[in-house]
Amino acid sequence: MNKVLFIILDGLGDRPIKEFGGKTPLEAATKPNLDTLASEGVTGIMYPVDIGIRPGSDIAHLSIFGYDISKHYFGRGPFEAVGYGLELKEGDVALRGNFATVDDNFNVIDRRAGRIENTEKLAKLLNGMQIDKIKIYVKLGVGHRAAVVLRGQGLDGKISDVDPHQVNIKIFKSKPLVNCKRGEYTASIVNKFVKKSYQILSKQPLNKKRVEQGLYPANILLVRGAGKVIILPSFKEKYNLKAAAIAGAGLYKGIGKLMGMDALPVSRTTGKPDTNVDNKIKGALSAFKNYDFIYLHIKGADVLAEDGNFLGKKEFIEKVDRSLLPLLKKKNLLIVITTDHTTSCYLKNHTADPVPILIKGDNIYSDEVKSFDERSCAAGFLGHIKGKDVMPIIIDYLGLSKLIGG
Ligand code: ZN
Repeated sequence: MNKVLFIILDGLGDRPIKEFGGKTPLEAATKPNLDTLASEGVTGIMYPVDIGIRPGSDIAHLSIFGYDISKHYFGRGPFEAVGYGLELKEGDVALRGNFATVDDNFNVIDRRAGRIENTEKLAKLLNGMQIDKIKIYVKLGVGHRAAVVLRGQGLDGKISDVDPHQVNIKIFKSKPLVNCKRGEYTASIVNKFVKKSYQILSKQPLNKKRVEQGLYPANILLVRGAGKVIILPSFKEKYNLKAAAIAGAGLYKGIGKLMGMDALPVSRTTGKPDTNVDNKIKGALSAFKNYDFIYLHIKGADVLAEDGNFLGKKEFIEKVDRSLLPLLKKKNLLIVITTDHTTSCYLKNHTADPVPILIKGDNIYSDEVKSFDERSCAAGFLGHIKGKDVMPIIIDYLGLSKLIGG
C-alpha cells in the first residue's frame, strides 16, 4: 500500500494583490516543484468547511481530516493545551493563556507583556494550585503563551473569555455562555484563578526588575478559548492508518495528538517563517518506516499574511517550494498538498474563499492543470470539493474504500 504525505501550508490561499499585477502570492511565486507536482497529479479547489464559511485553523483541520465539527469541536483551548504537552482527561476544561500586563485596576496595558520570552518560572508558580475543588495546571507554550487546564467535577467549557482582546480596557469577567450552573461554577473558578495569577505574578522579582528596566511586567495570565475536552475517535480507528504529525506550533501538534497521532519532534522547527522546512520534509520521509500517514504542517505563510506581508508570503512559498524537491521522484507515496484556509494579506485575516488542492501518486490521474494556484486548480479534475470529501478520496486512492452495494 502507498503511504500518504499530507502537507497543510497554513493560510496559503490569498486574494489578488495589486502590487503583483492582480496575482495572489501563490500565483506570483516561482515554484517549479509545486507546479511539477500539480502537472503530474490531480488538482481541484476545496471549501475547507463549507461554501461561505470562514474557518479558524482548528475547525478547518478537523473538517479536512474527516471529523464532523458539529460533534467534535469543543473550543481551541484543548488543542493548544495538548500541543504544549499537557495530558488531558475527558471532562477537563482547557483554555489558552497570555502572560500580559495590567495596571492596579486590571486595565490591560499590553496583551503580551512586551512579547516576554522567559516565562517558564512564572508558569511554574501558577501550576498546581487548587481553587475550591478544582485543580489547575499551567504549562508554558512559546514566549508569552501558555495553556491552562481545570480538572475536577462539574465543569463546563461554554464560558466567555477574560482576555478582552484589546488594550486600555478592563479585563472581562468570564461568564457562562449558556444558562447553566456548571458554566457559572467554571467561570467563577476561572475569574478567581486570573485574580490569583495577578496576586502571585505582580510580586515576582523578575517583574519588578522588568519595571525598573522600562519593560512591561508579565503580571497576569489572561485566558480565552475555553473548551471541555472530549476524546475524539482516533485517526487509526477511522481510517486504519498509523499516523503521525509534524508541526512546529502547539495548536497543530495538539490537533494531531487529539486525533491520536504521534507528534514527532523535528529540529529547528518554529511554527514561524524562519522554520526549517528541509528538516520537516526529511523528518516526514524518514518517519514512513514506522507510519502510513504523515500530517505535515507549515505555518509561515499564514503568519506573514496576518502581518499584511505579501512579499514575505511569496518568498516563503518559494522557500517551501525549494524544500519539496526530494518529493518529486518518490514512488509508492501519495502526496497531498493543500491549505486549511485563505489568509488575505490585505484583510490580515482568514476568508471563506476555496483553496487549491493537489494529489499526486502512482497510478492516479493527471489533469490539464500545470500550476498550483487558486485560479488554475479551479479547472482541475477533482472539481470543487469540501474538506469532508478529502479523506474519502485519499482512502479510495489507497485502495481501502469499502464497496457500497453489491
Ligand atoms: Zn490556519
